[in-house]
Amino acid sequence: MENTPGSPHPHEPHGEGLASRLNWLRAGVLGANDGIVSTAGLVVGVAAATTSASAIFTAGIAGLTAGAISMAVGEYVSVSAQRDSERALLAKERTELSEEPEFELAELADIYQSKGLTPETARKVAEELTAHDAFLAHAEAELGLDPHELTNPWAAAVSSAVSFTLGALLPLLAIILPPTTARIPVTFAAVLIALAITGSVSARLGGSNRARAVLRVVIGGALAMAITYGIGQLAGVAGI
Ligand SMILES: [Zn+2]
Repeated sequence: MENTPGSPHPHEPHGEGLASRLNWLRAGVLGANDGIVSTAGLVVGVAAATTSASAIFTAGIAGLTAGAISMAVGEYVSVSAQRDSERALLAKERTELSEEPEFELAELADIYQSKGLTPETARKVAEELTAHDAFLAHAEAELGLDPHELTNPWAAAVSSAVSFTLGALLPLLAIILPPTTARIPVTFAAVLIALAITGSVSARLGGSNRARAVLRVVIGGALAMAITYGIGQLAGVAGI
């Protein structure tokens, strides 16, 4: 992010920079959550049907890989679409600024007036910002965008794949490392503890009620494992 000349604390993160970092962190926690729950369901289901460590490991690693790729592709597509529409808005703004500068100045002044400034102050603010960098002023005030800080689809794709993978590794290790009879209980316990932690962290980041968030995510994870365990048992008994 560029520093405004004369800004008193040049290294202090701006409000928007901090918010976007929190968004990233929240996305990372959600990605890890996805990796934990989907891989846990998968390996518990397979372990309910067979004691073969290689079958369980193969299913787990395939689930991890497919999940990470699917997260990355999904994130790439959605962030690319968002960036395209942000770029189109910025291009439109640039055209409007060059074609109707007076109208745009009035529009900017209106925005500041609606935020509580007097018409005179709003006009003065709009004039000074327009003289400094009209495009930046409009992007921020009108569109809520920082043209230098549009989200990068590749970064979003890689970070969601990495967070999913980190989450998925936990149930994979929990099911592979213990002796055969302890596999499923150890995985249940490890997953529920991990989900309690991610639920608590994401509630903290989102400023929501912690106990409720933890309960929701823990119940969701327990249900996922219970259901796939049941399906795995049936498949194992049926000898499929
Ligand atoms: Zn404008």
